[in-house]
Amino acid sequence: TQRLNVHLAAAQPSATYRMIDRVAERRASGAPVISLNAGEPDFNTPTHVRQAAIDAINDGHTRYTQVAGLRALREAIAAKFRVENGIDTRWQDTLVCSGGKQVIYNALAATLNAGDEVIVPAPYWVSYPEMVQLCGAKAVVVACSESSGFKLTPQALADAVTPRTRWLILNSPSNPTGAVYTAEELQALAEVLLCQPHVLVLSDDIYEHLIFDGAHFATMVQAEPRMRERTLTMNGVSKAYAMTGWRIGFATGPAWLLQAMEKLQGQQTSGACSISQHAALAALTGPQDFVEDTRAVFERRRDAVATRLNRIRGLRCAKPAGAFYAFASCEGLIGRRSAAGRLLTSDEDVALAMLDEKGVAVMPGSAFGLGPYLRIAYAMDEDSLDKACTAIQEFADSTS
Ligand code: PLP
Repeated sequence: TQRLNVHLAAAQPSATYRMIDRVAERRASGAPVISLNAGEPDFNTPTHVRQAAIDAINDGHTRYTQVAGLRALREAIAAKFRVENGIDTRWQDTLVCSGGKQVIYNALAATLNAGDEVIVPAPYWVSYPEMVQLCGAKAVVVACSESSGFKLTPQALADAVTPRTRWLILNSPSNPTGAVYTAEELQALAEVLLCQPHVLVLSDDIYEHLIFDGAHFATMVQAEPRMRERTLTMNGVSKAYAMTGWRIGFATGPAWLLQAMEKLQGQQTSGACSISQHAALAALTGPQDFVEDTRAVFERRRDAVATRLNRIRGLRCAKPAGAFYAFASCEGLIGRRSAAGRLLTSDEDVALAMLDEKGVAVMPGSAFGLGPYLRIAYAMDEDSLDKACTAIQEFADSTS
């Protein structure tokens, strides 16, 4: 008998978690591992944010909040969207969820029906296609090659849209490639969608503040205000304020959509953690120097890692423009044999052999829908990154 929900049964467990399990197994057996898989900043949450949470507990802010979130936090979120993103919004048009991930899931669950399609440009964050699958709809994966900067082109978008398309998911800066869309590129995508009024856009801006080389962040509604009534702009405190464990994400978008998501959330979580909401309020309204300081650290690490990777025989890595991931081609290692004699036929073979033989964990690009690449997260101190790059180099040099 089928005990599970059919959509859940057909979904894959998160591929990133699978690799994390293998790392855990290796560590449990006593072998050292340097993991370059982290999807979170390695910094601690800023002191004033932690203090705000402690104060919230001591002041008795320990009860249910409104389902859509604390009014003060929603006001701060609306102000953030207005000031930083040029989106003309009010607190009533915002929603607080338990992490950016829940914003995305709620939006999909609130809107998708069987047979609906969601355009997911690849390489993609692993959760997008699986969430679409969980909602009983179909992810239409559109490959975006390195030659287009791993970005969706207007032509590829136009070719992918059908009458069943409900959403296009955009993520800039991107996990896993670090690619950043310019305002012009977003406008060009909007041009295609303005002729396709049935398509909504989910703009995942979670890495907004991690952007390098003096580039300016752009988001769909800012680039093309006519997309406002069908774009859900999602963001959160996880990456910008090193608050992954606090689980606060938020969004602004059309009222009908936010209301549906709030209705769903009312039966699901009753709203995000009250203490975390107070902490997020402190993060958004307090001093912002942490954001710039950590961004600068990530930019230095990016430079160091990209330089090292490009010196490794068999690897090649364009400088990522944002986030904290490098997406390096390992095409030059395919068809070779590792020192232990394993034939490397795919990026997954490369990643597994590198873990077993050198104790360095990276994610195969194919887990994100494009191989043969390796995703290397540089959310780690520079000494450890240096050691990791040396181990990757030794691995590559030992292949024949
Ligand atoms: N979107 C992308 C592209 C991510 O990489 C992540 C986290 O890894 C999230 C959304 C979700 O972030 P959170 O749920 O912590 O806000």
